[in-house]
This record gives sequence, C-alpha cells and structure tokens, in this order.
Amino acid sequence: MSHFIERIQPRAADLGEGLLVRRALPTRQRRMVGAWCFLDHAGPADFAPGGGMHVGAHPHTALQTFTWLIEGEVLHRDSLGNEQVIRPGQVNLMTAGRGIVHTEDSLPDARRLHAAQLWIALPPEQADCPPAFEHHPVLPRWEQDDCSLTLLAGHHAGRQAPATLYTPLVGIDIQSHAGGALRLPLDPNFEYGLLPLEGSLEIDGEPFASDEFAYLGQGRTELAIQLAPGSRVLLLGGEPFGEPVLMWWNFVGHSKAAIIQAQRDWEAGDPRFGPVPGSTRRLSPPPLPWSVD
Ligand code: MN
Repeated sequence: MSHFIERIQPRAADLGEGLLVRRALPTRQRRMVGAWCFLDHAGPADFAPGGGMHVGAHPHTALQTFTWLIEGEVLHRDSLGNEQVIRPGQVNLMTAGRGIVHTEDSLPDARRLHAAQLWIALPPEQADCPPAFEHHPVLPRWEQDDCSLTLLAGHHAGRQAPATLYTPLVGIDIQSHAGGALRLPLDPNFEYGLLPLEGSLEIDGEPFASDEFAYLGQGRTELAIQLAPGSRVLLLGGEPFGEPVLMWWNFVGHSKAAIIQAQRDWEAGDPRFGPVPGSTRRLSPPPLPWSVD
C-alpha cells in the first residue's frame, strides 16, 4: 500500500549571536504534526569557549518547550526559579501555560552543541494552566535492528516516557550505527513526521537527506525505513490537533487577542512574566503583525 509523503525543506533561523538553526516546523507547507508546532535543529556545531547558545530572557505562553540534547551542556533558568543544566540524552520540558520566562546558555567550557528544540501547543482548556518545569535525565532506551532508540515523549510498544503531556503525542530518537532496515509499529490515528538529524534515510523508496523533513500523514500502521550508517532520525507523531493555533514570536495562542495581550504584558513588565534570577538581558519582540482594535 502506498502512502502520501510530503517533503519539507527547513528554513534557516538565527537564534542570535551567530547560532544558526534549521527550522522544519512551522513552514509554509506544514504548521504542525499533532500538537508538535515548532522544530528547530541546532548543530551539530563546534564553537569557541563562550560561544554556542546564549538566548536572553524571553517569555512563552500556551505551549510546552521540549529540549532534546544530543551533544553539549546548556543551562536553563526560568522565572519559577529553576536552574538546570541539561546534558546529552536528557530532556527539559517547560510548560508555559499562562506565562513563563526563561534563558538558555551553553556552559562556558562547552565546545559543541547538537540539540532539537520543539514546541508542543497546549489545547485551549490547558492554555492558561500554571507554568511548570520538568527535567528528565533518564528516558526509556532500547536496542532494535542494530539501532539505539530513545523514547522522548508519549508511549510506544509498552514503554512510557516521563514527560507530562496534554494531547496524544509520541517522539522517538533513532540512532543507527551500521545502517540498515528498521520497522516500528505506528498508530494509524496519529500523523507522523521524520527528520534526519544526521545521515539520511529512505522511506517508500524515497531518499531524505539530513534536515529534509518527511511528513507521513495518518493511516500508517508501521514505519519501515532504511537508514544510512551513522544516521540519527527524529520520529514525531500525534493526533491531529483539533484547531490550528496562532504563533507569534515566542507566543502560542488560540486567539489574536490572547497573543496581543501577552505581548503587551511582556512589554509592560507585567508580573505575569516574572524575572529570571541572575539574568539581565531581556529580548524584545518585533511589532505585532496585526492591527490592534
Ligand atoms: Mn524559549
């Protein structure tokens, strides 16, 4: 049975201070895969001491930021007072809800960075939930078909990842050492996407190079891929999100009014977006793209 595959080229985005990332979601062709609504791939990159990722204090709303660190060491600090270094093989999950502020900085001695940063849109009934932060140093890992797999989010074949989620989602990191075929069961109610982070893969006879996103749609009961030696692939899936969300700067919202209010509150220094202890650099959004009535 043949299935539909959409090939999506990521766009370059600048996180500031010369850190370029490839952004596979959202793009013109595709906004979301399930509730996954943002996918930045940073590195793998070498940099001088003091370089790497340095993102000043910025707010988020109505989303969860999901950081999967492959190489490097990054310090997360937030307005709840959390201060957490994330290391390879670990996940940071920050639930913004009604509002949170955070900074992200490569550690001073770090020389390398490789990470995927994703956003998960919160459903309308959770959009204003209290903010929260989770650090998950240990994730389900297993070996299969000469691949090392890590369950990042959701459940798969009897395994359960620890991240708190609000919609049905899955995320799996797949690392192939020698290359070869891999088969995984899929949920036909989920839509899926595959992003080669390193190396390349082939699905249904179609090759995908590093950073070419393969959107697979719904209806598949199995994933069958061929991986090049040394490849690393991110599999994302989820139930299609009920309604499209709005995204502007670092805000997700279910209405323009919600996003306009969030931006006004950030610019006004409203206590909704508290300070990040130890941080003085505060990022400013571009002017709102909508006229304010
Ligand atoms: Mn952020």
